[in-house]
Amino acid sequence: MATRIEPGREAGVGGAGTRIDPEEAIRRYYAGEPVPCPVGCGGVAEAVRVSTTPAGGGEFWLECAACAQRERYEVPPATDLERRRVAQAQAEGREVVCPRHAAVVGLRKRGRQLACPACGVVYGE
Ligand SMILES: [Zn+2]
Ligand SMILES: [Zn+2]
Repeated sequence: MATRIEPGREAGVGGAGTRIDPEEAIRRYYAGEPVPCPVGCGGVAEAVRVSTTPAGGGEFWLECAACAQRERYEVPPATDLERRRVAQAQAEGREVVCPRHAAVVGLRKRGRQLACPACGVVYGE
């Protein structure tokens, strides 16, 4: 299941592109902008797997629609401010969304916590 991509491995598809900076990929992902292929083939990558890290942060794999290369991205756990925003929305009966995305991404209940289906970060106690 875990497709490991060795760091520094060549794309093997003759692509002349450059690897996207992970921080830039994550920024684009949260902004809802297209994320370029992780090995720079010119294609666009989409999320294929989202999970939560033991610390409560998120982990997602983006796979290029053109060359099928995958890259794993990890994002930190929710900050106190983010948790408060989620708790406040809950308390006010508003839609509970992941505060990190530009788009509206509703959180899903997971036990006593709320998890983001798009980035895997959990909120709440
Ligand atoms: Zn690609
Ligand atoms: Zn999220």
